[in-house]
Amino acid sequence: MKVVALAAITVPLLAAAHKPNLLPRQASPPPSAATGASSAAATGSTSSLPSVSWSLAATNPTAAPLSIITQGTLTTSATLPLTTTQPAGAKPTYLSNAPPLPDLSTVSPANYPALDKSPPTDSPEVQAWIAEVNASGITIPNIAPTVAGGCAANAQAAADQSRCWWTCGGCVRDTDITTCPDKLTWGLTHDDGPAPYTPNLLQYLAQVNLSTTFFNVGSRVISYPNTIRDAYMAGNQVAVHTWSHPQMTTLTNEEIIAELGWTRKVMRDVLGVTPLYWRPPYGDIDDRVRAIGQAMNLIPVMWTRLSPTVTFDTGDFNVAGGLDSATEVLANWQFIVGNATTINTGFIVLEHDLFIQTVEIATGYILPAALANNPPLKIQPVITCMHKDFSAAYLETNDNKTNPIPNPKEGQAIPSSGGNSSSSGGGAQAGGSGSGASQSGSDAMALDVPSSSGLFALAGSAVLGLFAAFA
Ligand SMILES: [Zn+2]
Repeated sequence: MKVVALAAITVPLLAAAHKPNLLPRQASPPPSAATGASSAAATGSTSSLPSVSWSLAATNPTAAPLSIITQGTLTTSATLPLTTTQPAGAKPTYLSNAPPLPDLSTVSPANYPALDKSPPTDSPEVQAWIAEVNASGITIPNIAPTVAGGCAANAQAAADQSRCWWTCGGCVRDTDITTCPDKLTWGLTHDDGPAPYTPNLLQYLAQVNLSTTFFNVGSRVISYPNTIRDAYMAGNQVAVHTWSHPQMTTLTNEEIIAELGWTRKVMRDVLGVTPLYWRPPYGDIDDRVRAIGQAMNLIPVMWTRLSPTVTFDTGDFNVAGGLDSATEVLANWQFIVGNATTINTGFIVLEHDLFIQTVEIATGYILPAALANNPPLKIQPVITCMHKDFSAAYLETNDNKTNPIPNPKEGQAIPSSGGNSSSSGGGAQAGGSGSGASQSGSDAMALDVPSSSGLFALAGSAVLGLFAAFA
């Protein structure tokens, strides 16, 4: 694997900046005996996608064959019901000072902004959050929003090192979490849920005694409140991934506050706790976005990026849109593991629980292989890999004396209760299972790839198709 990692560095930047599937592959054919799916690899690629080779230490015997994990609905896979519907008043056993779960009957989707749309900024809630940010004492840098199109469309901003725009150059600040500190420790993350196949992932995680960090889209939380309650109660970390999944550097300060504020609020209304961690969609963060997040008590979690050509992104999001094959994702995974063994820290990988394909690849292949990996990997939620107790993940349970929050002034001022009336909805929120249509894109799908909007639309239409099956 070291050979793969070294070879990757020679790949031209533009070819692989946001397409890790273009990185060099292991040249050797997949082994046979040890991997139940290796034969599938040989025939697993769709006719329109390149064939790649890979090998895995183990696979799940019940995994969907790679040959059917492709664009469209996997007819052999069914959504699983939640293990239970978490009742109001319940408390997670692992988090002794957690507030009780709220009564969901008081949480009406009509009181929240519209699905997958950036919330209006003139609502009383957003105005209150803007005032809190202004009173925080945290300086918001005077950086103009970028325009859609990423680095190529924002040449001046991309070249401006002072704004530390992660998307264009990978700049990070000390406040960004990009790795786990301990070597061979994997901070597991899944983005863009809750979604119809999140329960399938939850069931597998429980079977193998793993937990993950879910970065949740706020407008999906109100669509699938019982799913995120199940995830939270089962011992997974839940965190913020914005309300409508925009490129955050393109937004005004007020729009950023609205995206973060509503997501934070809906999670508190549904779970009783307010996350202290967030991930910007597409990793699109600069110093302005960082500062607003800090003022709102949110710590950014990225994914590991060793160089422009070595990013720890599985590319799993691309499968549902027909852009990548499952075998390419597995090759990406091998590439990631190979690089992980060469660095002295742990690592964080980008994966998603939005699509059936991403969940099937995770539960059928990547996680079984990771559990059997040699050298062994320690697989933990991000909060755990950072050597913190779960109480540090949420405002209500955090010990501010030993674990200071980013903005102590703002701490207790978040409006609570989903029963609050709101004039900001911009239309009733569709609720209930199967209601969601997606505009979410891969977090690594590139701001600086000119055709990204086309890829984005393709992926979005795939989601529409998937969700239609549940309507
Ligand atoms: Zn995302």
